[in-house]
Amino acid sequence: MQTNFTAAQLADPDVSASEKILRACVHCGFCTATCPTYVLLGDELDSPRGRIYLIKDMLENDQPATPEVVKHIDRCLSCLACMTTCPSGVNYMHLVDHGRRHIEKTYQRPWFDRMLRRAFAIVLPNPRLFRAAMQASRLGAPFARLMQERLKAALALVPSKLPPPSPVDRPQVFKSEGKCVRRVALLSGCAQQVLAPEINEATIRLLTRHGCEVVVAEGAGCCGALTHHLGQDAHGFARANILAWTRELRNGGLDAIIINASGCGTTVKDYGFMFRNDPELAEPAKTVSSLTRDVTELMSEIGLKAPVNPTGQRVAYHSACSLQHGQQIREQPKRLLKEAGFVVLDPLEGHLCCGSAGTYNLLQPEIARKLRDRKVANIAATSPDLIAAGNIGCITQIASGTNVPVVHTVELLDWATGGPRPKAASRF
Ligand code: SF4
Ligand code: SF4
Repeated sequence: MQTNFTAAQLADPDVSASEKILRACVHCGFCTATCPTYVLLGDELDSPRGRIYLIKDMLENDQPATPEVVKHIDRCLSCLACMTTCPSGVNYMHLVDHGRRHIEKTYQRPWFDRMLRRAFAIVLPNPRLFRAAMQASRLGAPFARLMQERLKAALALVPSKLPPPSPVDRPQVFKSEGKCVRRVALLSGCAQQVLAPEINEATIRLLTRHGCEVVVAEGAGCCGALTHHLGQDAHGFARANILAWTRELRNGGLDAIIINASGCGTTVKDYGFMFRNDPELAEPAKTVSSLTRDVTELMSEIGLKAPVNPTGQRVAYHSACSLQHGQQIREQPKRLLKEAGFVVLDPLEGHLCCGSAGTYNLLQPEIARKLRDRKVANIAATSPDLIAAGNIGCITQIASGTNVPVVHTVELLDWATGGPRPKAASRF
């Protein structure tokens, strides 16, 4: 694609990076076929190619974002299916991130939008605030019918009972069972530890059982993905994690940084790019990104022990977009589940997003609901006993539309190799 940026514009490293991305696009339109919003809405401006043109125009003309541009960029899930499909290697993720930052800088959203987005950016990354907000919001449940659509959508995702905080999420070291084969840091995360603390518990049992010493590093917390996707500055979160893991690298050494929420994994693997122009943190950020692995990547490297618990259940595997498109991890989780003795089912349209996408299901509830229902129907067609996914956002979203238990892949691997039966799967 031809671009017309001035030399002065290209002096900005963000514009220069986006210009390279724009030039790689040959406007072939292959990406439209796999874009969930184009598939649903059929509007070129809700396709990757349409959005690329909108962002190009906005940046090239150095214009404030218009309501029309904001509407179509806001509808993008950042699912990155377009990046998997694109034959020209267009880095849509970095381009849309830049577009979102430009929108937040130049566009005044209606006050309710601003308030909601600000509230999500403050509350969701902070487990204490998030827990308090979830508890408070249960009081509002009886009045849900009177509420604005997006508040209603948020309330619908609040679980009826919140599990207590888990002691495993505090900074500490978990020794390996037997000989230590890897020393790894686990990102204990933010919203996940409130909604489903059993995921980190299962991850730690699984890793220590397979010879890993697991460190929950002091100072590490939210990866910044939720804030980043809202177009707001997430460098503070990323910086805290980079410093925490760099300290750990110097002190005890680390073979890997393990992530069990794939949305976070995609972001941490991109810290190197985020800090590329930071004289102090460019190198440490690159090191952190290069050490980052999804938990199923590490387990595939180490090898799964033979199952000791009776498995054999039919598991529909939902491939989170951030895992399959963001990190190109597709086969490892399914292979591990098969090795653990499960019958793994591949629902149709596995490449399409479930509608969760960070805060998307809260900000775009109508499109998110349509995508969820489509996803759940495809999953139901496989008649599964259980559904497995590697991202808390997808787990919460899919569980809100089905009675089939939805669990994290690591909970099944942990159960198969000697851990307790996942709580959500207690009826099997
Ligand atoms: S598939 Fe790639 S090159 Fe083709 S229009 Fe989409 S982003 Fe551009
Ligand atoms: S990230 Fe997903 S929703 Fe956004 S343009 Fe690409 S395929 Fe479409």
